[in-house]
Amino acid sequence: MLTCQRCLEPVSVDVEAEVNLAMVLNEEQAKNLPRYYDPLIVEAEDVELLSLIEDELILSLPLVAYHDDCSVQTSFGDADEAARTQKDKPNPFSVLAELKKADKS
Ligand SMILES: [Zn+2]
Repeated sequence: MLTCQRCLEPVSVDVEAEVNLAMVLNEEQAKNLPRYYDPLIVEAEDVELLSLIEDELILSLPLVAYHDDCSVQTSFGDADEAARTQKDKPNPFSVLAELKKADKS
C-alpha cells in the first residue's frame, strides 16, 4: 500500500521485480559471471533472501502513486501537470555534462 498523492488515501500498488541472481563464493567467481546475472556472494551458510527480495521490491516501487480513478484534484492541478513539471526539472547530471564540455574547450 502506498499513499495516493492526490487524495492521500492508501492505494494498493502491484510491485514486480525481475531478479537474476547467481550465488558465488567470492569476487573472482562474481567477475566471471555472464553480465545478466547479479552476483550474490555467499559467505555464510545461511543466505538472507528475504531482505534481498525486500530490497529489490522497494527499488521497483513507483516514486508516486495515484488511484486510477481518483476524483480528488490537487491544488497544483491534475497529475499530468505534476508529471510535466517533474520533466521540466533540470537533470542533475546535466551539470556533469556542462563540466565535461568546459573541460574540452
Ligand atoms: Zn486517490
